[in-house]
Amino acid sequence: MKKVYFYYSAMNAGKSTSLLQSHHNYTERGMQTLLFAPQLDTRCGKPMIHSRIGLKQDATGFDDQFDFYAFTEKKARELENLACVLVDEAQFLTKAQVVQLTEIATQLDIAVLTYGLRTDFLGTPFEGSKYLLAWAQELVEIKTICHCGHKATMNMRIDASGAPVTEGNQIQVGGNECYTSTCLYHFKEGVPSFKELGVTVCHS
Ligand SMILES: [Zn+2]
Repeated sequence: MKKVYFYYSAMNAGKSTSLLQSHHNYTERGMQTLLFAPQLDTRCGKPMIHSRIGLKQDATGFDDQFDFYAFTEKKARELENLACVLVDEAQFLTKAQVVQLTEIATQLDIAVLTYGLRTDFLGTPFEGSKYLLAWAQELVEIKTICHCGHKATMNMRIDASGAPVTEGNQIQVGGNECYTSTCLYHFKEGVPSFKELGVTVCHS
């Protein structure tokens, strides 16, 4: 039985680079992989996995209706040596799709490597990440740091002037917002609504 892995991190920690490296490791050994990316990522008109260091690779797009199990099961019959399924931006998966990924690992005996953010710009867990954190057999943190030097675990949406954005949709398509990764302390400073949740944190 193969496993489901969830590689999680804040923004800009190198998740896509890590995904493409894993893809390379499989193909170098003569094994086949399937790459998936959200359909909403249409920067190049078609789904593609981009890494910030310049690597890119075509991917199969998924929306919330996409059936990972049916697609992979069919490909497993067509391809020799299909060994691994890799999913970028896995926070956008639905609960049903995370179930499908667990079936790919346990029923089809194909490893599933997923990469994503835990929380959105308001600190709310994404649906896909919630169930991956709950069900993946292997959780791996890809680390990055806040401007203060502490580990960044949160994702702050910022406007053109660098000020935190504290309301809006979870998924912003084609907006002008950028994101920055911060520690919890600096996230709470920038996003006052999060403070109202009553969470307190010590800053060392
Ligand atoms: Zn910080």
